[in-house]
Amino acid sequence: MRKYLMDTVLDLIYPSNIYCISCGKPINDNLPYALCDSCVRIINWTNQETCEVCGKPLRIGKRDRLCSDCQKRPRFFNRGFTCTRYGTLERDLIHRFKYHDQAYYGRKLADLMIERLKVEDLQVDIVLPVPMYKGKEKRRGYNQASLLAKNIAIYLEKPFNPGLLIRTTDTLPMSGLGITDRRDNIEGVFVVKKEKQREICGKAVLLVDDVFTTGSTADGCAKVLLKAGAVKVYVATFAAGIDPVESAL
Ligand SMILES: [Zn+2]
Ligand SMILES: [Zn+2]
Repeated sequence: MRKYLMDTVLDLIYPSNIYCISCGKPINDNLPYALCDSCVRIINWTNQETCEVCGKPLRIGKRDRLCSDCQKRPRFFNRGFTCTRYGTLERDLIHRFKYHDQAYYGRKLADLMIERLKVEDLQVDIVLPVPMYKGKEKRRGYNQASLLAKNIAIYLEKPFNPGLLIRTTDTLPMSGLGITDRRDNIEGVFVVKKEKQREICGKAVLLVDDVFTTGSTADGCAKVLLKAGAVKVYVATFAAGIDPVESAL
């Protein structure tokens, strides 16, 4: 949180929207996003067919309305929305955001996600991030999902409460795991404490994360939120791999 505040202060002194967050070229600060014209053109917006449930982009020409994961099993969450298809540019942005101490990307990437969410006219009561294990968050200095969620909550003018849903243990990295292993890996990891359930009960929740792969993490969170009394759980992510999930994710 301290890092987030510091970034906000630094942003006032040295505005970060004068450089494209993707290629670093100087940009006009009155552009709607922190991306130059050519990066806006090459970013993989999810303007193609997407899965009707989880929102994952589908391969062009695929006739199904659902991705392969949603066909195999029902989701706990109601709908998923993703802003971009996970490609080279998106991967670089997320890596810089997560691993290179660039907390201010949270606001920039949230701006792009908001564009995607605007058209959906979602009715939500509260915005929550997919939580990070406490020790990990301490080491990194911030939870990237939390920074995205906070900025989306500000835009939607809805409460943001990162403490309601917690991650009790760190999980193994999901990459390389099949669907069943991913589900096992996440089982029992997320918790809403009894005394906090009141704040979830009867609410439509918007759950925010940076990347959507098979959706096992989002499902693990949604299951716990519904058990705590949430009436709906929507999931918003910055990027999602095309279906079926590419091995690079
Ligand atoms: Zn650029
Ligand atoms: Zn799907």
